[in-house]
Amino acid sequence: MPKKIIKKGKKKRKPKKPSERWKKYKLDGDKVQKTAKFCPRCGSGIFLAESKNKDRIYCGRCHYTEFLLKPKPKEKPKEEKKSEKKK
Ligand SMILES: [Zn+2]
Repeated sequence: MPKKIIKKGKKKRKPKKPSERWKKYKLDGDKVQKTAKFCPRCGSGIFLAESKNKDRIYCGRCHYTEFLLKPKPKEKPKEEKKSEKKK
């Protein structure tokens, strides 16, 4: 009896996700605005990715990480009101 050759199923390759770099740009009229920061180490063209918690941004190339300081919740004084009168 010849040994049965069990063919292993080919591993399915997961399609790579595109970096979606274009999403970092925003069109404002005829001007292009960047919504993400460039990496200071790699220079322009390399975007800093936002972490899940959105408390830091990092560069996927050189692993430069920048911590985003969360703005402290301001206590709004209720007494102050804008003295704008609408007509
Ligand atoms: Zn970098």
